[in-house]
Amino acid sequence: MSNKGNKNRKKHVNRDEIEEEGLYEAIFKRAYELMNQPVVEGNCGELCGYHCCRRKESTGERLGMYLLPLEFEYVQKAVVKSYEVHSNLIYDMPPKVKKLYYIFCHEETGCLRDFRPVQCRTYPFEPHLEDGEFSLVIERDQIHDCPLLKSIPEWRQAFIDGIYEGWLELMKIPIIKYHIGYYSRERIEENNIEKQYKDHQWIR
Ligand code: SF4
Ligand code: SF4
Repeated sequence: MSNKGNKNRKKHVNRDEIEEEGLYEAIFKRAYELMNQPVVEGNCGELCGYHCCRRKESTGERLGMYLLPLEFEYVQKAVVKSYEVHSNLIYDMPPKVKKLYYIFCHEETGCLRDFRPVQCRTYPFEPHLEDGEFSLVIERDQIHDCPLLKSIPEWRQAFIDGIYEGWLELMKIPIIKYHIGYYSRERIEENNIEKQYKDHQWIR
């Protein structure tokens, strides 16, 4: 085989990579736009003293949040100031995910609302895949004492639709779909679903 053949193949791989990068960037941008609706009218943080934004546990432990696979590379790299990289050699995570970024909120500037990660946008919903079908769920085990969980009928439909559509966008990225599938299986095994929303209605 000539070198020429190899060169052509390399060129092809590079062009695919560039196209994939542009596609993934566009997917994250679209998902951030769709997932930009408040859960209820007003600022829910005032109801709970911004519990899910707290920076420390009562024990003093510093709290951060995990980004999705590729969310650092495609969005957060430009704004995050403080983070740790957690490797799958040490931390428990889906085997095909080699590392996850664990970021800390801005100390000086406070919340960069336009850049808040997907995890901040989607909560209290989590994405769920079962038998290939997508839904949004609210987990039974909650680490935040979120008052919104007691007033689900008041959640804005625009929030629910935006989160639903946003996850459908994000699932076009294979490693994110894999990540969702992994945690969905864990959730099913642990019987950790309290409420479930699918195809424009609550089914549980
Ligand atoms: S814990 Fe619930 S009410 Fe409080 S800021 Fe988070 S989502 Fe809003
Ligand atoms: S990024 Fe903003 S919304 Fe998210 S936890 Fe930090 S302060 Fe709260």
